[in-house]
Amino acid sequence: KSFDDAGLHPIMRENIRLCGYDVPTPIQAYAIPAVLTGHDLIAVAQTGSGKTAAFLIPVLSKLMGKAKKLAAPRPNIAAGYDPAVDAVRAEPLVLIVAPTRELSTQIFDEARRLCYRSMLRPCVVYGGGPVREQREELQKGCDVLIGTPGRLLDFMDKPHILSLLRVKYTIIDEADELLHSDWDTEFTKIMSGGDTNEDADHRYMMFSATFNKHCRELARKFLSADHVRIR
Ligand code: AMP
Repeated sequence: KSFDDAGLHPIMRENIRLCGYDVPTPIQAYAIPAVLTGHDLIAVAQTGSGKTAAFLIPVLSKLMGKAKKLAAPRPNIAAGYDPAVDAVRAEPLVLIVAPTRELSTQIFDEARRLCYRSMLRPCVVYGGGPVREQREELQKGCDVLIGTPGRLLDFMDKPHILSLLRVKYTIIDEADELLHSDWDTEFTKIMSGGDTNEDADHRYMMFSATFNKHCRELARKFLSADHVRIR
């Protein structure tokens, strides 16, 4: 098994090479073809299994093929970026939700490496971080958004900053850490892409070390009947 015969976009193949990944880890070997063929995914995965690249590689590779058509709003930076004039509303195509600042930042670092030399721009937002800087990064254009749920909801609630109406892929990482309390209404809002996303082809992926009752309920609610299970 190698990354070369997985049918990935040439830019993605090159970025995988630059990351120094030679062979897919087991979870990547199962997840990449499943996502490339349009399936939802539920995966039992520990940190260290290569789970981050398992969802980033196929999702970003697919979008690289369509980047021109799908490109998120971008500020006009020809004459230098002026936030007062050029700021756009972030309308990401990919939303990745993670429980902590540390995990969000790790995912962001990997997303940045895998988006290299593509039209895709990743951003990260998390609680406890600087609101103004995070907002300004979002308003420079954002295709792939990684964040913790509280801060995501904060930005969703304000006009002109973030809209999830174009999200095509929602990924929940460490779902068991995220879904233990009474987050139901809020999480449904994040999962469904706010109030305006009616994309029938919205794909969902859930990764977790264990699957508690809340995880199973969320999976039942959002994942398609023919989703792929990896364990
Ligand atoms: P994760 O389980 O996503 O936290 O990844 C654990 C570590 O494995 C990260 O440092 C990745 O950069 C690395 N990694 C992911 N996929 C591969 C691969 N196919 N070959 C070698 N290292 C990898």
